[in-house]
Amino acid sequence: MARPPMTLIDKLPIEGRRTLIRVDFNVPLEGGAVADDSRIRGALPTIRHALERGARVILCSHLGRPKGKADPALSLAPAGERLAELLDLEIPLTDSPVGPAATRLARDLRDGQLMLLENLRFHPGETKNDDSLARQLAALAERYVNDAFGTAHRAHASTAGVAGHVRDKAAGFLMAREVEALSRVLDAPRKGFVAVLGGAKVSDKLAVISKMLGRVETLLVGGAMAYTFLAAKGHAVGASKVEADRLDLARGLLREAEKHRVELLLPVDHGCAEAFDAGAARVAVDGVDIPEGQMALDIGPKTAALYGERLAGARTIFWNGPMGVFEFDTFATGTRAVADAVADSGGWSVVGGGDSVRAVAESGRAGDIDHISTGGGASLEFVEGRALPGLTALGIRRTA
Ligand code: ADP
Ligand code: MG
Repeated sequence: MARPPMTLIDKLPIEGRRTLIRVDFNVPLEGGAVADDSRIRGALPTIRHALERGARVILCSHLGRPKGKADPALSLAPAGERLAELLDLEIPLTDSPVGPAATRLARDLRDGQLMLLENLRFHPGETKNDDSLARQLAALAERYVNDAFGTAHRAHASTAGVAGHVRDKAAGFLMAREVEALSRVLDAPRKGFVAVLGGAKVSDKLAVISKMLGRVETLLVGGAMAYTFLAAKGHAVGASKVEADRLDLARGLLREAEKHRVELLLPVDHGCAEAFDAGAARVAVDGVDIPEGQMALDIGPKTAALYGERLAGARTIFWNGPMGVFEFDTFATGTRAVADAVADSGGWSVVGGGDSVRAVAESGRAGDIDHISTGGGASLEFVEGRALPGLTALGIRRTA
């Protein structure tokens, strides 16, 4: 009988063992250097733990979209250099993700030493979950650890296929923390559960909205998607971004909210502009209806105060999607106010989504939020209740 898969790295016997760790070093680069090292820092607890336990560590990650070919601009060298600084260790980098050089380096590793494989997506088999690549990766090591939550929603050779060829596998600490926090969101009691959903498109967020409607007491809607809802209710939305082909779907979601007795709030005032432009003047529209020629690029102060009230009384908060075009300073006000309200609330708070996380970081309140997910698409898919291939491969299942 196969024994049940272990789930966390600290339960895996890795002393003196070659241990392949899939990390998420998909970091932004600028001028050949790492512009934001938070993802590298996020993997440190798992890497440090493995080194301290005397494992022989083989790190692997993807970076960008090199489309299956070597691209020097997307080498993991800058990430490796940053990690070497953080750990004060030398870290050899292979010239390609698999092959004789990688095999040799892995074989020569000693206990407590570390190496980095070159960008996995230099190999065409990575995103195809090619079995031969999965086998080659598995052959490098005796243990497999996945700590790359950001790619857990992808069935790739390094996140899914490889796990089928390694008997002893586990999740890293970052992966475990994400699963724990996002599961807590899904398990939260309805009373006092407030979700804030915003961002660019209703169509991107249908599944999350629908999932949340079955779980929350209050749903606060902002961002561009709010105008599709307002248009669906028959309000004037001026030149605001509306998905005209989603009005029926939006109406369906509004009915769903009623059926579940969810309080679904939409903006009651707006920060508008005549053009989608960073330098555009902010025009305050003090009412739900938006005059012709104006486009809403932010929620207004009354809306921010109303949403703030609901967030102050929340016990659990899930936030995805900015309240406005936070990239334009003049229209970041609403998103910042919501970031403050989430941070100041006594409730337990989770923020997920690439742009949402960036907005929270820019607000300076990240430290006051309980969990900031490192996975954009992965955190959304998890909260939608979908099975993530990277988790399934580790034997981690949850049905929501
Ligand atoms: P996340 O990455 O957190 O899931 P999204 O990608 O769904 O968030 O949405 C973020 C984008 O939505 C931002 O680029 C922001 O400028 C845009 N956005 C938010 N509100 C509006 C609006 N009122 N009009 C146009 N774009 C908006
Ligand atoms: Mg986004």
